[in-house]
Amino acid sequence: MNLDLPPTIHPVFLPGAAADVPAEPTDHCLVVADGKLLVRPDGELPRVADLPAEPGPPGRSDRPGLVPLGTLDGVPVWAAAREKADATLGNWLGWRELAAGLPEPLAALAGRALQVVTWRRSHRYCGACTAELADVPGEHARRCPDCQLYVPMQLSPAVLVAIRRPGPPGAAEQLLLVRHSYGPTEVWALVAGFVEAGETLEQAVHREVAEEVGLRVDRLTYFGSQPWAMSGPGVVLAGFTAYCPDPAAEPVVDGRELTQARWFPLDALPKALPPTYSISRWLVESVRAPATT
Ligand SMILES: [Zn+2]
Repeated sequence: MNLDLPPTIHPVFLPGAAADVPAEPTDHCLVVADGKLLVRPDGELPRVADLPAEPGPPGRSDRPGLVPLGTLDGVPVWAAAREKADATLGNWLGWRELAAGLPEPLAALAGRALQVVTWRRSHRYCGACTAELADVPGEHARRCPDCQLYVPMQLSPAVLVAIRRPGPPGAAEQLLLVRHSYGPTEVWALVAGFVEAGETLEQAVHREVAEEVGLRVDRLTYFGSQPWAMSGPGVVLAGFTAYCPDPAAEPVVDGRELTQARWFPLDALPKALPPTYSISRWLVESVRAPATT
């Protein structure tokens, strides 16, 4: 598994929010309805030409409401919101299916489309004075024309950490894995949580570890990041590795978010692990030891 992709990976997706040129029929167009994204019957992401024309003036303006997302190998990518998921256009996939089925950078692109369309739908009015917000050109942001409140599209940072401790003499090191009380409850996952306002990513790791399993860790090392979380787009995950220096330290679960926490030998990890396309799994695989049996 290549965890260190060079910046020249193809295709290259560059996020952007400027609509410098009008949409062309061959441009990519990600269509979102009911929180799902349209995939053509041939499995490809749609082009602008695949989008049914809406009533309006002829020409390019017959496809109104295209929102710029950036470029994919230099080709503009647009998002379009639709009221209903029209099954005649193709398959409408939810986030988990998209994350599992699309290779990068298309999964990140799909996440961005869902996030942008959802944000635009849920941020239409000023939270301070209730006036209707106006788009800020070239940004995914809106501004209140009355009180000037600036409302940017925001991401939620979250951290996750693979914690090891020494094993018994002569045996492999051990990895702490946890089971959650929500989501896929059978999966053995990593300690994770959202970053609070006012703390660093590193402080968030130490706080989450203390809150969720009652342990202290050291040798905290940054591993990498993923621009979306299994729970959905809009969350940027920062992964870390850490070490529990006390070989006798046992986790104590909080009983709310977590139902179980256990140390597993690195050469005998459980089978029910996070999916292979998640940074959670990449972290687990980065510390896994070859099986001895
Ligand atoms: Zn306002």
